[in-house]
Amino acid sequence: MKPIAEIYPVLESSRKVVVTMHQKPDADAMGSALGLFNFLVACGHDVTVISPTNWATFLNWMPGAGKVLNYEKQKEEAEKILSETEILFCLDFNIFHRTKNLAPALEAAQCIKALIDHHEQPDEQSFNYGNSDVNKSSTSEMIYDFIVKSGKKERLDQSVAECLYAGVIGDTGSFRFSSTHASTHLMVAGLMETGFDHTRVHNNLYDNFLENRLRFIGHVLSKRMEFFYEYNTALMFVTKQDLLKYEIKTGDTEGLVNYPLTVQGIKMVALVIDRDEERKWSFRSKGEFDCNSFARKYFNGGGHYNASGGNTKDDLAQTIEQFKQAIRENEALLA
Ligand code: 5GP
Ligand code: MN
Repeated sequence: MKPIAEIYPVLESSRKVVVTMHQKPDADAMGSALGLFNFLVACGHDVTVISPTNWATFLNWMPGAGKVLNYEKQKEEAEKILSETEILFCLDFNIFHRTKNLAPALEAAQCIKALIDHHEQPDEQSFNYGNSDVNKSSTSEMIYDFIVKSGKKERLDQSVAECLYAGVIGDTGSFRFSSTHASTHLMVAGLMETGFDHTRVHNNLYDNFLENRLRFIGHVLSKRMEFFYEYNTALMFVTKQDLLKYEIKTGDTEGLVNYPLTVQGIKMVALVIDRDEERKWSFRSKGEFDCNSFARKYFNGGGHYNASGGNTKDDLAQTIEQFKQAIRENEALLA
């Protein structure tokens, strides 16, 4: 994988470009993809964003979101565009299987492949150019750096700024997490110079739900949460019936995993959701507990040091038992 800066000369003439991100894109995945999309369009390229799956409706306000293809719904159109593209940008993931059903088409694509991402353990051999940096707050911050270093910062307009700002507040918990560095705030200062409305971005992301989601959170907090104080750990689980009863849609469970971290002394939180095809885990920690290694070792997943995820085909009761066993095995690190 060559340094990402070496791709600038390739972008000197107008190119066909595809931008993609991990399945079920969150604010950083969608924000970085649409930030790059709006920038590259402003530079005269022919750009398509392809999402592997659907996404939360609270991301639909982002400039360009209406043009994003959903691979699960627009497979043929997406594959045709992929077969003709000259450059593929892969954002906010670092190994093709994170794009689920889209992975074979990405692997097969005969084009320049570029990676911009901040997760652990990248599959570098699959990419021609890239920047993989686990110290960055978000992929959105990395897209900001990519734009600034291109020497075309004047093309970074309000539409780019809104998308990148959404991504950075999503991944840093509005600048709370330890991944927030001076460079993160300097980036935001640069974005603010465009005059974009940051309050509107917060409202769009966090004050944009329906009553059912709040009732659902109340239900999970009162009925589906368990504390294991001897391991400084909390567990939340969501059943299939909960998802149905509260009409939970993609995105409604975003942020749920953070609630138990507000309890004194809690170092690690796990949330498992009984989705149709799999049980999906989310892990969060404060300080010195490595969620990436934990997710890799026990739940077929990965991510970052303080935030990771995984999945299993086991049923809910089985996977919860495995989790309890896993925290016992990690007592020395958690207690
Ligand atoms: P979340 O809990 O918000 O779904 O994910 C937290 C972090 O872990 C994100 O950075 C996400 O990309 C990563 N992650 C979530 N699920 C998986 C997984 O199944 N495999 C890997 N490798 N990473 C995951
Ligand atoms: Mn991210």
